[in-house]
Amino acid sequence: MRISTAALRQSDARMFTLVVQGLKAAGTRTAERCFSIPLSQMQTTLRMINQQGGRLLSVTPTDQVSASPAPAPSAANAAPAPVTTPVKHEAPPVNLYKPKDPYFGTVLGNYSLLAEGAIGRVNHITFDLSEGNLHYVEGQSIGIIPDGVDSNGKPNKLRLYSIASTRHGDNLEAKTVSLCVRQLQYEKDGETIYGVCSSFLCDIEPGAKVKITGPVGKEMLLPPDEDANVIMLATGTGIAPMRAYLRRMFDAGERAKNPAYQFRGKAWLIMGVPTTPNLLYEEDLQAYQAEFPDNFRYTKAISREQQNPSGGRMYIQDRVAEHGEEIFTMIEDPKTHVYMCGLRGMEPGIDEAMSKAAEAKGLNWSELRPQLKKADRWHVETY
Ligand SMILES: Cc1cc2nc3c(=O)[nH]c(=O)nc-3n(C[C@H](O)[C@H](O)[C@H](O)COP(=O)(O)OP(=O)(O)OC[C@H]3O[C@@H](n4cnc5c(N)ncnc54)[C@H](O)[C@@H]3O)c2cc1C
Repeated sequence: MRISTAALRQSDARMFTLVVQGLKAAGTRTAERCFSIPLSQMQTTLRMINQQGGRLLSVTPTDQVSASPAPAPSAANAAPAPVTTPVKHEAPPVNLYKPKDPYFGTVLGNYSLLAEGAIGRVNHITFDLSEGNLHYVEGQSIGIIPDGVDSNGKPNKLRLYSIASTRHGDNLEAKTVSLCVRQLQYEKDGETIYGVCSSFLCDIEPGAKVKITGPVGKEMLLPPDEDANVIMLATGTGIAPMRAYLRRMFDAGERAKNPAYQFRGKAWLIMGVPTTPNLLYEEDLQAYQAEFPDNFRYTKAISREQQNPSGGRMYIQDRVAEHGEEIFTMIEDPKTHVYMCGLRGMEPGIDEAMSKAAEAKGLNWSELRPQLKKADRWHVETY
């Protein structure tokens, strides 16, 4: 099949719906699948349909989809890329409070999220927002300016933290924001060093006022589609935005607050921690799993307790590799979004696991990832 590149140059913004038969996924062939793509992605999509042995039944301008689709000129060179149009989000609020004029949030609560025997310190900290105009949506971050001065005697600079609560806050009154903070601790020249802001936050007492900026961030916004599939890859405090998504999807109070968002898709959390006592928000996650077994899947990589197939520690990338086939089958669905959050070190391992899984399906991850990113389906926030 030939698609005129003249048409492509003429209007890249036009959308087309492709109906494809017989794509190979998870070892079986699908009956029929629909892809909604911009004209600019037509060539790549056709190439992928071809690679996966699919037959193109029709190509229709999207605004005509409800009318009967025109037959495809020929299926000969067809091939889909698992891509789609960028998701349209409502514009999130940004930079409502800046470092020069921050919001002063009173600490409402600060408690440890860890069970006995855990490594390190991770706290859930909630601030009151009732006095000003600081509001946010799931997936954004706020800045915290710790009290005191740095080693040069200058006021401390802000650090960003992913918001762990939904826009309604933990008490559903839309007047609080919560964070999930790990105290940074490392050894240097035989001395234990503690991070400035993370220690400030983990030690802070209820009633204290803290300088808050933001919100910021558009990278980790949740698609508004109730039928979307959401794969979440988190290590440690990388669970923060996922906790907000999962509350929005499955918490009874949240669902009552969001009549227009009654999640029906598949949410799959793959979570990496060093030990079982380091698992975060475990009770909530177990409750979602019990209540929504068809919609929420929860896979753990507990590095110091579980072994990967080579006998080494089980890291998140080992779980991604183990489930690569299923992950890619989900990614082939244009409604699937992947979110990654946690320490920056998790990225190369996951990339490698995704490359191998893609290869097994005859796909090239280094080509596919930017396409998914462009389609707003691959979201990464690592630090
Ligand atoms: C978008 C975004 C979201 C974030 N979300 C979260 C979150 O949800 N939860 C969370 O806990 N953190 C989060 N962070 C990280 C957070 O912003 C801080 O970087 C973190 O809390 C450390 O700040 P600190 O002031 O405690 O450390 P600092 O006192 O600023 O010390 C950090 C510095 O210590 C040095 N250092 C760190 N580790 C070592 C080491 N092993 N050896 C030698 N030197 C080292 C480095 O120079 C580093 O820059 C996020 C960051 C970003 C960018």
